[in-house]
This record gives sequence, C-alpha cells and structure tokens, in this order.
Amino acid sequence: MLGAMTIGRFAPSPTGILHLGNLRTALASWLSARTTGGRWIIRMEDVDGPRCHRKFGEAQLQDLAALGMESDVPVIWQSDRGEAYRAALDTLHGLNRLYPCHCTRKDLQLLASAPHDEDGLRPYPNLCRHRSWESSEAALRLRLPDAAVEWLDAALGPQRDDPSTLTGDPLLFRRDGLFAYHLAVVVDDGFQGVTEVVRGTDLRSATATQIRLQEALGLSRPAYAHLGLVTAPDGSRLGKRAGALGLQALRQRGIGTDEIIAWLGWSLGCLDRVEPCAILELVPHFHWSKVPLEKVALPEKWA
Ligand code: GLU
Repeated sequence: MLGAMTIGRFAPSPTGILHLGNLRTALASWLSARTTGGRWIIRMEDVDGPRCHRKFGEAQLQDLAALGMESDVPVIWQSDRGEAYRAALDTLHGLNRLYPCHCTRKDLQLLASAPHDEDGLRPYPNLCRHRSWESSEAALRLRLPDAAVEWLDAALGPQRDDPSTLTGDPLLFRRDGLFAYHLAVVVDDGFQGVTEVVRGTDLRSATATQIRLQEALGLSRPAYAHLGLVTAPDGSRLGKRAGALGLQALRQRGIGTDEIIAWLGWSLGCLDRVEPCAILELVPHFHWSKVPLEKVALPEKWA
C-alpha cells in the first residue's frame, strides 16, 4: 500500500545567507518529501520586519536552487500575509483565547531570577492572563490550557512538554504592530497544507506552543522532526561570528556543489562516505531512522 504523500516545507528567515546547518535542514525536508513522492515548499519568513531583507531571501532561493532544491509551488513571503494573520487573531478573539498584555521587556527582565534559556528569556509568567479585553494598542497573548503536550518526533522519538516547561502564554501580536513568529508559522503551515515540519533542535521548544495554537485554530497537526545542529569544527554554534560560510564562499574555495551535497547527505545518514554525488542519488537512501541525533561538526576546511 502506498503511504501518504508528505507536504514538506523549508521556511528560512531572510536575515542573511544560508549556512550549512540551514542547508542540511532544507535537504532533510526535501529528501523526506521526495521519498514519499510528495510536495516540497519553500516559504520566506520575513515577518520580523527590520531584520529581514528581500535580497537575502532571493540569495537563499538561488543557493537552494544551485543545490537542486526548488519549491514545487510559488514561494510565499510572510510580509504579504498580514490579512491572514489578522483573520486568525479575530478567530482566536471570537473564541475568547486572546488577552491584551502590557508587560514590557524590562518588566519581564526584572522578574528573571532563575537560569535563563539560550535567548536570555524565561517563560512568560502569564501576568496579564486575567485582564479583560480592551480595544487598545496592547500586545496580544494566547491563553494556553494547563496540560502537557505530546508528539512523536521523527528524529528525536516520543516528546512531552509539561506546562512548567512551556514558554508561557505566547505573544501572537506585538505592541509595535508585528505579527509574532508562532502565529505566522502556524497559520501558514495550515494554509499550505503542510504535513511535515523539519527544522533544527533550536526550535524544538516552539513545537508544543505551535501545537496548542493549531488546536485553538482547528488546524490539523503536522508531523515534526527536529534535527541536531551543525556546529563549527570546534563544536561551537554556527553563526555570523563563528564563520558560517555560505554556498558562494565555499564554491570560491573550490568546493563543488556535488561535494557539498555529499557531505550533507553523509551527515544525514544517506551515505557511508563523503563521495561527490547528485542530490537525486540520495533519495533512495534517506530514512529518518538513519539520521543521527547528535550535533555534527563541519570539516575544518569548510569553516
Ligand atoms: N523561520 C524560522 C527560522 O529561520 C524557522 C521556522 C520553522 O521552521 O518553523 O529560524
């Protein structure tokens, strides 16, 4: 019997060039969709206004295409989707799931006394939860139910987040008029019929919140797979400062796209050795059970 066809997506934020960690995530989601004969979508998440630039998005699309990954449907840009996000907020308000929040970043920092997570932010302690609705310029949060969220992660296995480990009631609309990441992702995954979300483990903590938001909006839940991150050769996090090279810089060093595909494919468990190959050759060898859980360090000469 044929399995269901996956609708996978890669959803970068156009805030810079794609590094090998991003490209590895793109390839995993592309391969996963291709092994089921399904569809693969690229979506540009430029909802976070000032940090996003169209030119970065265009460059990201070019790099993906150079490796053989192109969206099967026209690419949507979240900056064009404000009406859909506004409509979702109206729906949630109609269901009495939103509340206005007047806490400032400073208020929340003053409350922080326990160890910080990576972003230096603690779960929001739901201080404004019992505020009644008012029509003002306030930020808006989603009232979450007080129950654990469970999902089966294709890469990590069974996952469970208790309410205490959740990030608190998430911000969906910011006081400065921007729609929040969680809202845009969930609305667009629903709108595009996405059935599989592949992304780095740095976004694993967003999943329970997004599942709750899907439930509130009556959207179906996609499958999730969170990949171990790619690090610099010394194990440090890839980032602008850790010299994360993009495709163009690697090519200028004489590293061919077939070699890059081979390394990415090897890092995803498709190949035993890093031997130059074409992207399509990886398809029959991809399986989630072979994708290593650990972080993977870049080769010295690529950093
Ligand atoms: N746009 C997000 C990022 O680039 C990824 C969102 C997602 O995959 O859910 O970090």
